[in-house]
Amino acid sequence: MSYVDRIIADVEKKNADQPEFLQAAKEVLESLRVVVERDGIYEQTGLLERLVEPERIIQFRVPWVDDSGKVQVNRGYRVQFNSAIGPYKGGLRFHPSVNLGIIKFLGFEQIFKNSLTGLPIGGGKGGSDFDPKGKSDAEVMRFCQAFMTELYRHIGPDTDVPAGDIGVGGREIGYLFGQYKKIQNAFQGVLTGKGLTWGGSLARTEATGYGLVYIVEEYLKEQGDSFKGKTVSISGSGNVAIFAAQKVFELGGKVVTMTDSNGWILHEAGLNLDTIKEIKLVKRGRISEYAQIHKDAVYTEVGKGRVWDVPVDIALPCATQNELEIADAKTLVKNGCKIVGEGANMPTTLDGSLYLQENGVAFIPGKASNAGGVGTSALEMSQNSERLSWSFEEVDQMLNRIMVNIFHNIDDTAKEYDKPGDYILGANIAGFKKVASAMLEQGIL
Ligand code: NDP
Repeated sequence: MSYVDRIIADVEKKNADQPEFLQAAKEVLESLRVVVERDGIYEQTGLLERLVEPERIIQFRVPWVDDSGKVQVNRGYRVQFNSAIGPYKGGLRFHPSVNLGIIKFLGFEQIFKNSLTGLPIGGGKGGSDFDPKGKSDAEVMRFCQAFMTELYRHIGPDTDVPAGDIGVGGREIGYLFGQYKKIQNAFQGVLTGKGLTWGGSLARTEATGYGLVYIVEEYLKEQGDSFKGKTVSISGSGNVAIFAAQKVFELGGKVVTMTDSNGWILHEAGLNLDTIKEIKLVKRGRISEYAQIHKDAVYTEVGKGRVWDVPVDIALPCATQNELEIADAKTLVKNGCKIVGEGANMPTTLDGSLYLQENGVAFIPGKASNAGGVGTSALEMSQNSERLSWSFEEVDQMLNRIMVNIFHNIDDTAKEYDKPGDYILGANIAGFKKVASAMLEQGIL
């Protein structure tokens, strides 16, 4: 049995109850076959065995009191996956679906993504099965305080620097930061995505969505093309989706769809982003409200048709994992979609992504295409260390440069391994190489 096959079998045996982690690990390991089987050093040093096992997993109780005075208990997690190239870095997700397997898959992806940014950040991820939806601000605050009351002892500006993810935006980062500062009596850059008056970076809010569009733009440029006149479908209506849509419009494209967990809207004339922002960022409402305001838009509930059925040139899944399945991939291809860029983490199933690639769609995997968020988080860390703030334009330009570099890195790597256009392989190998050489140089740890 080859080295990679042995590791895959072992990962399957040890993590049978973690399907998302298995999916992410297998995809990466398959890509690495050509690298690790060329050079015995990886097997001799047990590099893959170490790579698939988190350095540390922290799981903790989060007790808090709801508005009616009842005690609630949630589970908190932080998976510190790999610190070979820098402090652990990765978001916190608050969503009822969160479990250890999901946090491990996200932390694993984060290792390669962070490496691709070219910045010195290791991989980690955390979160809780707490659902901020429908909770009062006071409940969210008490939960965040309780969460940080345990997490604070495991993180630090040179150890582990969490950020936001699904269900964790500016409000939650504020409450988490406040509690950390109070307990430690230290004002430190221990979280990113902070408010602009207390250490946050301009353009961090926009960064993941903008970065996604910048990498797709670079691909288009290479084809002598641009976003001008392109029709785009986007899923999700949160942080990543909204700012991806904003940049698409700025570059002359037209976004026609958005979704939330209840359903999706189609507005063929082009979405009105002000309405979306009002519903989602101000009122914290549902996407269905959009169709009550814009009468020429159509709302469809989950289960009655798929957002990917809409014929578009470019699809940008920006909600959650495994939301674009093989049947959706087939529909996109049939309808002439040319590019799929992942804003979310692993939104496309493995068979879906392979189908897209095999059928002439440029498929840019999340670990490359959504790396602008964490890249800009690293820029926020640099500003905190310098105790300076850079302008929006400066940060945005650096973000653009990071995304352009990532595109050429994954494109060149795919070509180097005789798989031009295979950006899954390109991203996995390019991300891996830097982490692997750091692990080799630092000894068996
Ligand atoms: P938000 O919480 O701001 O938005 C998430 C959006 O996705 C909401 O519209 C939400 O709908 C929808 N959604 C979440 N879970 C599900 C589900 N199970 N089924 C259907 N819809 C769902 O999160 P972000 O925009 O920050 O994150 C979106 C994705 O991007 C995630 O995969 C995240 O890991 C990834 N990502 C985020 C980064 C960031 O900087 N924020 C960086 C890199 C990746 P509803 O409101 O109904 O819950």
